[in-house]
Amino acid sequence: MKTFPFRPLTNLVMTPANLTCDGVDLADLASRHRTPLYVYSSAHIEKQIKELRRAFKGLPVTICYALKANTNFTLLNFLAKHDVAADLVSGGELWRAKNAQMNLKQSVFSGVGKTADEIALALKSQIKFFNVESKSELELINRVASKLKVTAQISLRFNPDVDAKTHPYISTGLHENKFGLDKAEILTIASTFGALKSCSLRALSVHIGSQIQTVGPFRDSFIKLRELRNLLLAQGFKIDSLDLGGGFSIPYRQNEKSFDLDKYAKTVKALFSDVKELTIEPGRFLVGNSGILLSRVLHVKKTRKKKFLIVDAGMNDLVRPALYQSYHEIITIPCASGPNHLKGSTGFDVVGPVCESSDSFTKNRKFSKATTAGDLIAILSAGAYGMSMANQYNSRFKPAEIWLESNARGKAKARLIRHRDSYRDLVTNEVLKKESRK
Ligand SMILES: *Cc1c(COP(=O)(O)O)cnc(C)c1O
Repeated sequence: MKTFPFRPLTNLVMTPANLTCDGVDLADLASRHRTPLYVYSSAHIEKQIKELRRAFKGLPVTICYALKANTNFTLLNFLAKHDVAADLVSGGELWRAKNAQMNLKQSVFSGVGKTADEIALALKSQIKFFNVESKSELELINRVASKLKVTAQISLRFNPDVDAKTHPYISTGLHENKFGLDKAEILTIASTFGALKSCSLRALSVHIGSQIQTVGPFRDSFIKLRELRNLLLAQGFKIDSLDLGGGFSIPYRQNEKSFDLDKYAKTVKALFSDVKELTIEPGRFLVGNSGILLSRVLHVKKTRKKKFLIVDAGMNDLVRPALYQSYHEIITIPCASGPNHLKGSTGFDVVGPVCESSDSFTKNRKFSKATTAGDLIAILSAGAYGMSMANQYNSRFKPAEIWLESNARGKAKARLIRHRDSYRDLVTNEVLKKESRK
């Protein structure tokens, strides 16, 4: 047996006959549960958690998983069991985290548009901090906390005006972005804190974007964060906690480098050795390369200019390529018998059934194995911002999800952790009052 030479998901094994993950045959899963089908390797997620703990050993770091990357209940419960807390951005995420038994007292609530109801829910759940993004939000938190007769623990989210050098849609730390507060705003807000009787300023936070590949942009923002903290310390504020955000990149391409966590941790250690408590908010890093989206080839279509693989997964199942032109490795898994397998020197556009031209996973991709209708494709690195962004556009079903649970002998058991939608699910919450025709 030969391990597929794809570094990020090393537990994928390809033989001439099949493709397995943690010892489970993916074609077999696809025929049993049909497609499109998300498959997650819990062994990979566990490995990523260990990797973080190893890199940050000796530092007072709390891991708050950014739920928005993937909110499956089984996954959240697995993270809870591994002592991972939550970075929340909505009341819905808070509800999920609570039900999955994540430790809310170690969790933080981020996002620019928190509502009064969400704030009340978070206060009652005794979350650790609100990462506050505007003066108006802070005043709202103060009013809600005052009504509930509790004190809200506040962390101000700093926008350091640093270019994260990532896709503009996932960049958040520039002044032109809607996120955070600049230095002057934070200093002004801090000076008025005395008037906010139900809020206590405890921390500063920063999150400059996602899929950041080098330590440089982090370092630039941390240096500015440290300056700002020192200014506040000098004014008598006790800021002994910093939230450094998420954004660690993962490899999406074969042989792409992994994020240098050790260098990052070294930078953090050098800059913040005097800080009592640090929080990191990884999302993609924990789950991105745990996930595979399996999809069946429905048709091979040749036009005069192009060859298309039309597959049964669409942008409603995995929107990243359509939304940010992102790259995913795609492996073809031959399983249809008979002739008509196409190879050839030109590549395929791999497209879904959704009625949008942007419903495409890749353009002009060449595959090492010939393919035809009935074959499978495996879209790799689909564990983050895949299912959590899935929707029912075109009245398509949201896909099913499978969890690969490893045992001591390294061969995993596959468990269905989300059913595929049914027709009935498509009209949930719609009022189905019928007028008779005619
Ligand atoms: C999205 C987000 C994260 C997670 O980003 P990743 O790139 O998935 O690690 C962390 N913190 C905040 C505030 C976010 O909005």
